[in-house]
Amino acid sequence: MNAEIIGVGSELILGQIDNSNASFLSKELSQAGINVYYHQAVGDNPGRLKNAFTTAKSRADVIILTGGLGPTKDDLTRETVSEITGRKLVYEQAAKDQILSFFKGREQTMTDNNLQQALIPEGAEVFPNDEGLACGSVLDDNGTLVMMLPGPPRELKVMFKTYGIPYLTNQISERQQIQSTVLRFYEIGESQLVDKIDDLLESQTNPTIAPLASDGEVSLRLTVKGPSDSENDTLLHDLKEKILDRVGEYCYGEGEEELEKIVADILREKKIGVSSAESLTGGAFADTMTKFGGASMIFPGGVVCYSNEAKQEAVGVDKAILEEHGAVSEACAIAMAEGCRKLFRSDYGVSFTGAAGPDPMEGYQPGEMFIGIAGPNETVGHFVKIKGSRSRIRTYAVKQALYLLFQ
Ligand code: ATP
Ligand code: MG
Repeated sequence: MNAEIIGVGSELILGQIDNSNASFLSKELSQAGINVYYHQAVGDNPGRLKNAFTTAKSRADVIILTGGLGPTKDDLTRETVSEITGRKLVYEQAAKDQILSFFKGREQTMTDNNLQQALIPEGAEVFPNDEGLACGSVLDDNGTLVMMLPGPPRELKVMFKTYGIPYLTNQISERQQIQSTVLRFYEIGESQLVDKIDDLLESQTNPTIAPLASDGEVSLRLTVKGPSDSENDTLLHDLKEKILDRVGEYCYGEGEEELEKIVADILREKKIGVSSAESLTGGAFADTMTKFGGASMIFPGGVVCYSNEAKQEAVGVDKAILEEHGAVSEACAIAMAEGCRKLFRSDYGVSFTGAAGPDPMEGYQPGEMFIGIAGPNETVGHFVKIKGSRSRIRTYAVKQALYLLFQ
């Protein structure tokens, strides 16, 4: 939250008095944690006051006007603020009563002008004047707080300390902005990740760090609560740097989007087509690749080839490979990946072959598999081991392939 002070009164700009109200307010504001970026002083002139106000409104969260709230003709602050903010002036009953009782039993006669001091813009909150007659006020003009305080320093000081500061402090806590972001990681377990940033997790209160693991991915949600978006941005940025310094190599993205969406976006952007030959995953990879709009651009097609015959017939795996190495083998994964790449004329071919469980297969334990990635320059068969149920193994296998493609 930042404030701007506008001192109103020709005597200020003629050098007849010092702008001690501005110094007092600045000190009080900075003690309350509110930055003051500008002071303006302006004469008793509605046009120039409007200009000063408009300028302040373009750059400040709080505008504090001092002076020009008295009963005389040159006191124009109230009327000008009413006009600019589009709020008519209404009598504040308590202030009106105070003025009436002040003049009662005095020699001095009260004029209508004296009652002006009990006027406030409609909807504004009133600040009673315990030292004089002109009441102060504060209103919310489309998010900008506009506060009017009387010119006489004694009145202003008491009013600001008693009503102004508590009002602003309360606003600061109400206006706390919450912002959060998610850092996404792969190929690092939750406990391993937490271990590497343990001290940050312990010491960090704002922003907070919340780790979350789901479907083979680990993410960290960073949440910051602060008075302004720009301060929040800085806090989040600094913490992100600290975290990425330690575990940046595992971070594949930031934001609400999961790995599959990020990979799909990259493929679409780079105009890369991927086809699949799936045994172990039974079509789960094809399902994922076709989840998002524009899928035909990145996924020309895939085959599910579960039996050995299907592997031979659909994607041309050599019988000799199956006989010599078996279906669960690096050689078979490579042949499947190359076979589908050729069949669909795609940039990449992805294959899955392995033991999904619950029983071992060809000597491999449940969760042991080969994922083949055939690209324009080479084909690689990756041995991957995933723990868990049959469904978990299949889901994670798809993620693993996406991650391999992402790299
Ligand atoms: P009043 O009811 O006395 O007319 P007002 O709210 O209209 O109060 P002004 O008429 O602008 O305020 O100023 C009243 C007196 O307060 C000035 O003569 C001056 O002594 C003092 N004053 C006004 N503004 C400031 C300021 N920015 N710094 C210090 N003193 C000020
Ligand atoms: Mg005056």
